[in-house]
Amino acid sequence: MENISHNLKIIHNRIEQSCKNANRNTESVRLLLATKTVDSNRINYALKEGENLIGENKVQELKQKCTALKEQNTEVHFIGHLQSNKIKEVLKWATCIESIDRLSIAEKLQKRLEFEQKKIDVYIQVNTSFEDSKFGVLPEHAIDLVNEVSKFNNIRIKGLMTIGLLSSQSTEIRKCFQLLKKIQEEIINLKMPNVKMTELSMGMSGDLEIAIEEGATIVRVGTAIFGDRIYPDSFYWNETE
Ligand SMILES: *Cc1c(COP(=O)(O)O)cnc(C)c1O
Repeated sequence: MENISHNLKIIHNRIEQSCKNANRNTESVRLLLATKTVDSNRINYALKEGENLIGENKVQELKQKCTALKEQNTEVHFIGHLQSNKIKEVLKWATCIESIDRLSIAEKLQKRLEFEQKKIDVYIQVNTSFEDSKFGVLPEHAIDLVNEVSKFNNIRIKGLMTIGLLSSQSTEIRKCFQLLKKIQEEIINLKMPNVKMTELSMGMSGDLEIAIEEGATIVRVGTAIFGDRIYPDSFYWNETE
């Protein structure tokens, strides 16, 4: 557990330093704890250290862990691939779905929200690395998707999310984040009704500095806080419907 405090300090220092380098306020970047595979004791420990935002990829884990959360003010985002048969359960726990990447899922989400007379925040997930293994709408279709989803009254679009290229080449990673920023700016210029574009969720353990330099408002960090996971990320990113 000491490791978690220590790692959190390091991450906050990295965020602070990147903000300084980019001439940004440290408060303009939020840390989201990516808690897949992390048990609720460890999550609760991080929350007690002052964290207040977590993200889960799988509905089963979301449910289990949210039931065991001790801090009342914890905000929970869903960051995994959303399957339509899991929408109802996700809505019980998450206040934001960062991974809306197709119209069909937004349609089903809208139907359920209407039924529950509820609204939810979403980000549109964009596949900025063009890798087949990644979810997300292709960049060239992102604006159309935002436009279509914005017509659903119970869904509030707040921003965009992406997973950068997994690479050791920082210029290639940076291109992904620059692309997301560019799409954000294009959408802002279009002034679509019912669309806010304030959030850019990008940057993880290995690339948060680059993401912050390119405008991230949320960085999602798992490994650098909680240590290595036993499952490969493909287990979480390649879930099929
Ligand atoms: C696992 C995960 C992260 C965090 O990745 P780390 O490399 O462990 O920091 C961020 N975003 C998503 C969508 C994830 O699935």
